[in-house]
Amino acid sequence: MSEQSSLLGNVRIVLVNTSDCRNIGSAARAMKTMGLSELILVDPIEMPNGQAQALAAGATDVLKNAKVVSTLAEAISECGLVVGTSARSRTLPWPMLEPRGCGEKLVEEAHNFPVALVFGRESSGLTNDELQLCHFHVQIPANPDYSSLNLAMAVQTLSYEVRTSYLINQQKAFKAKGENLSKNLPKKELDEDEYPIIAETERFYQHFEDALKATGFIVPTHPGLVMTKLRRLFNRARPDVKEVKMLRGILASVQRAAKVNEKEKNKE
Ligand code: SAH
Repeated sequence: MSEQSSLLGNVRIVLVNTSDCRNIGSAARAMKTMGLSELILVDPIEMPNGQAQALAAGATDVLKNAKVVSTLAEAISECGLVVGTSARSRTLPWPMLEPRGCGEKLVEEAHNFPVALVFGRESSGLTNDELQLCHFHVQIPANPDYSSLNLAMAVQTLSYEVRTSYLINQQKAFKAKGENLSKNLPKKELDEDEYPIIAETERFYQHFEDALKATGFIVPTHPGLVMTKLRRLFNRARPDVKEVKMLRGILASVQRAAKVNEKEKNKE
């Protein structure tokens, strides 16, 4: 099987609102050298032109096949794991990964569903709202006095970690296959849909917010940080598909109770 159609094809690189298309070209080259091919551009300020192609060099295919979408939510809706990159720590702490751990996690979960690594704007990185759409954040531990890498170089560094984990995984699988053959052990079945994809998780958060508005816990004019904190909590707990279904059942029952309560109140 060629690398393009393998597990690495399930690792998506998402560039948000890139202003200089030369960085997109260089990012495409960085990706291809590491065996990655799935590039998604979220609302690029400058569409890839001849300069981007020149910098992509032998990776113009990655550039040509790049998908262009208008929001980050759209770019990651089919993904089961999303890691956002950040050059600096943010006010709201989020589960963090080291670059090595990030590569391992992406490769491990790319067996089950598409996964994404999200990169921000050259000028200001990712917004807090965008970072909150991610399960984890990763920071390349650069010089604390000058920690902001060029966008394409950050893509290169983290794509290298993905590749390293992929190669280690392949070696392990190769060894295990040999051992299983000699011991006649059955192949381990992968749990196909253990975690929900982002689209489902977002529907869950919307449901949660609607229910909390119905009970009056969230006041629409003063929502505060409730949803942000809940997102962080559920990110940490990472409920699986069945647990999300159960939680949505609970929310539906809360909504029904809130409705009955409201009717009773109106009768009084
Ligand atoms: N001035 C911006 C940095 C933008 S650099 C800021 O303060 O956030 C452009 C992008 O490159 C970042 O959004 C991130 O995706 C990536 N990047 C740069 N340096 C990084 C680092 N040390 N760790 C992780 N990602 C980094």
